Amino acid sequence: MDNKLTVYNSKSRKKEVFEPINPGHAGMYVCGPTVYNEVHLGNVRTFVSFDVIFRYLKYLGYKVRYVRNITDVGHLTDDTEEDKILKRAKLEQLEPMELVQKYSNMFHEMMNIFNNQSPDVEPRATGHLIEQIEMVQEICDNGFAYEQNGSVYFDTLKYNEKYKNYGKLSGRKIEELFTETREDLKNQEEKRHASDFAIWMKANDEHIMKWNSPWSVGFPGWHLECSVMSTKYLGETFDIHGGGNDLKFPHHENEIAQNVGARGVEPAKYWLHANMLLMNGRKMSKSDGNTISPYELFSGDSPHVSKGYTPMAIRFFMLQSHYRSTLDLTDLAMQGAEKGFKKLMEAASELKKMEYTGNESITEHDKNINDILDSMVEDMNDDFNTPKAIADSFELVNYINKLKDKHMTFDEISKSTFEKMKTTFLTFVYDIFGFCDESAGQDNSQFSGMVELLITIRNGARNNKDWATSDLIRDKLLDLGIQLKDSKEGTSWSKS
Ligand SMILES: [Zn+2]
Repeated sequence: MDNKLTVYNSKSRKKEVFEPINPGHAGMYVCGPTVYNEVHLGNVRTFVSFDVIFRYLKYLGYKVRYVRNITDVGHLTDDTEEDKILKRAKLEQLEPMELVQKYSNMFHEMMNIFNNQSPDVEPRATGHLIEQIEMVQEICDNGFAYEQNGSVYFDTLKYNEKYKNYGKLSGRKIEELFTETREDLKNQEEKRHASDFAIWMKANDEHIMKWNSPWSVGFPGWHLECSVMSTKYLGETFDIHGGGNDLKFPHHENEIAQNVGARGVEPAKYWLHANMLLMNGRKMSKSDGNTISPYELFSGDSPHVSKGYTPMAIRFFMLQSHYRSTLDLTDLAMQGAEKGFKKLMEAASELKKMEYTGNESITEHDKNINDILDSMVEDMNDDFNTPKAIADSFELVNYINKLKDKHMTFDEISKSTFEKMKTTFLTFVYDIFGFCDESAGQDNSQFSGMVELLITIRNGARNNKDWATSDLIRDKLLDLGIQLKDSKEGTSWSKS
């Protein structure tokens, strides 16, 4: 095959031929979750997008090392600048690391539900404090950071004088950033310029998650961990850095500045960004109710959907749009995706059973099928164009159905073409798109009804403070792979 993989590099704002730094190998770092609450559906979309990219790189034969971090310290809230983990831990009355474990487990479970493959390394920020302190020191030694009252700030202006690249990835100008950056509450008087950012923060007395450093007892700035952990596991320069679009600025911009400030080299060759998930044409937002959690979408327990959808139908829905496009979740679109997914999987299951019984003829169908197969690979080589590859695979679905219904005979195609179609189609469906068969397909409504009934019985037990019965139902269902989740809004369930 002479066609090559091209990827859209956010940095250059154009498609570039993918040429890895070490031939045959691909290093990919994707910013993972901050584990202080349940993963949002929008984040699921980002991780599904990079899962397909991970899978396709492997399909092309690259030896891939996929690193995706877990942020468990240092990510501050936008408004009050509290550590997100600490704030939530107080609210839930848990130890910070207890909270981190709880939401990491839930995150992993969600990744499994969507059939996302695990990264090869999943480092945590708190496990890399020594390396983070070292990098702060390196940046200080190179003159791109300054200390104020025990906190250390990255000097964006001084950095930009030398490297002239601050703001390039996100397309912002440092002069504008200087005035544009929101009035920063407590750090304002400590920072020299509004665009400077903390790489080490002095902790106050109440702060629980803090470590010794040459500057103060404190904690690292959020952006630092990704610079440090990508360098540690992928080297000073690696191939792909990914994340959601919203991370371009300031997170990724600051990552670049830190890496260059410390080591003099930009970390990633290609920057890939996944776009936003909308709902009913608008940004998802908790404050105006335009939001839905993965579990609500599974159970249908939401005013935004008429029924529940399976994780694989949702995955199919996500792949029906290009990762760089915004994707609009609507009930109608979900219904369409559910039908499409079913049709695709039925064809896959038919094809698995089918054996060639023809006469080795080469007809125009033969050529046509080969063209479709080539074009599926071309689609994916074109910056992972999953919607087009899915559309092409549906042309094969037509052939599979014709063969099944005997509207076409094996005599009209050659054995090699049939075998190639079988292998390629099934590889795309299962290994590249990452779909799996959902056994629940047979009688979903009956099954759901039974789980709902058990939830009703359990609610009754809970109201009567009969915790033994309530826990028994929960635990037995869990043994069967059905997880109940209690919240203010009631109890929802999901299958693992
Ligand atoms: Zn990151």
